[in-house]
Amino acid sequence: ASESGDHDLVIIGGGVAGYVAAIKAGQEGLKTACIEKRGTLGGTCLNVGCIPSKSLLNNSHLYHQILHDTKKRGIEVGDVKLNLTQMMKAKDTSVEGLTKGVEFLLKKNGVDYVKGAGSFVDANTVKVALNDGGEKTLRAKNIIIATGSEATGFPGLNIDEKRIITSTGALALTEVPKKMVVIGGGIIGLEMASVWSRLGAEVTVVEFLGQIGGPGMDAEIAKQAQKILGKQGIKFKTNTKVVSGDDSGSTIALNIEAAKGGKEEVLDADVVLVAIGRRPYTEGLNLEQVGIEKDDRGRLVIDQEYRTKLPHVRVIGDCTFGPMLAHKAEEEAVAAIEYIKTGYGHVNYACIPSVMYTHPEVAWVGQNEAEIKASGVKYRVGTFPFSANSRAKTNLDTEGVVKFIADAETDRILGVHIIGPGAGEMIAEATLAIEYGASSEDIARTCHAHPTLSEAFKEAAMATYSKPIHF
Ligand code: NAD
Repeated sequence: ASESGDHDLVIIGGGVAGYVAAIKAGQEGLKTACIEKRGTLGGTCLNVGCIPSKSLLNNSHLYHQILHDTKKRGIEVGDVKLNLTQMMKAKDTSVEGLTKGVEFLLKKNGVDYVKGAGSFVDANTVKVALNDGGEKTLRAKNIIIATGSEATGFPGLNIDEKRIITSTGALALTEVPKKMVVIGGGIIGLEMASVWSRLGAEVTVVEFLGQIGGPGMDAEIAKQAQKILGKQGIKFKTNTKVVSGDDSGSTIALNIEAAKGGKEEVLDADVVLVAIGRRPYTEGLNLEQVGIEKDDRGRLVIDQEYRTKLPHVRVIGDCTFGPMLAHKAEEEAVAAIEYIKTGYGHVNYACIPSVMYTHPEVAWVGQNEAEIKASGVKYRVGTFPFSANSRAKTNLDTEGVVKFIADAETDRILGVHIIGPGAGEMIAEATLAIEYGASSEDIARTCHAHPTLSEAFKEAAMATYSKPIHF
């Protein structure tokens, strides 16, 4: 084993949490090493998550639109064909460009990128089993664990990423399945259901709860989303649980029943996507050796400053508390480095946006109506439909609504929930507003360019404390 000298910081994991921490640490002048075993940087998000899924979502949407939504726009198209191999290639090209870009940024900021699997030897020593063979030992004043998460499996179904797949397999199918069943109507389930249904699969989503969208989505918005996605051809079975599955036959048989118990039914599928959540991934770190604790859900236990029981070992991203979102991990990465460098750091967990990249998109920030109701705070709701927005009308893309919820006494914005075209970009304005403690009137009295979709946002704010103009 070669000794590679001391580092101010060793980061285990080169996903969004780890690589952002590495760049920030390099900028701050810390001698930093980042250990990653995948062979490419960027973790789940860049390699098998956010980025490849957005490529497929964008291009499958274009395909679907060209097939079904051109005539009324005055565009006559001839033969439209899917070239799935090329669509996958386009995705791979985007991913490759971005992972290489991250590698360049690490180099530019003087970070040692160590390709291999890291594990603790003692509190200040990390051993790396190098991908190319051999071993390297790193000594560190500070250590950050950023090893991310993995898809939760389903008992009885063997994930082979071909017939029984997680999101990883759903981004790499080599042909369009005839029948696809998605277990779990959360964000992963709905984004992948959209991709494959647009490309021609018959897709059924089975969701345990009465509402789709996963935790956090406002009930009213989730209802609209289900209606719109249903019109696009996705079938839903809500209040339904998958009890067991059998993948030994030529098709996969899933036994489903009402969530509260009741009659059983069998669903057949050529491909089953398991999308029932993700869990922290911390295997092989030898954490027991140094006494770092996990909670009952496998999350590494930390304090407000991301410190484990060992104050110089911090944890950020999916393998600890909070929503499993890339942008949350990025915020933590910057804050963790600031704690190391200056003793101060901050992330506002009450103001982290969520986006579902279906069409239309769904996006929200702050609390949903059920949460606000449960908190006992008196509130007002203001909504504005995209069908009354001039730009949405010219785009022939009018489904959806903007919904504001503000404190009835102070008018301070408590939550914003959007379903509509471009919701994922629009939510940034709501996030900034909540971060600045804005009232709905603050937004309503801010000039918004005409004609833009953002005017729907402004008018929903107007509807919250007064009346909208165009509805
Ligand atoms: P999720 O927790 O968001 O949703 C899983 C859904 O599966 C839930 O609605 C749950 O009720 C349902 N479910 C669980 N067991 C079931 C069963 N036996 N039968 C039927 N339904 C069942 O999980 P996910 O969609 O897998 O996403 C995992 C994580 O990745 C989440 O934290 C998500 O926010 C994140 N993610 C985010 C994005 C994005 O922001 N665009 C995209 C992908 C993933």
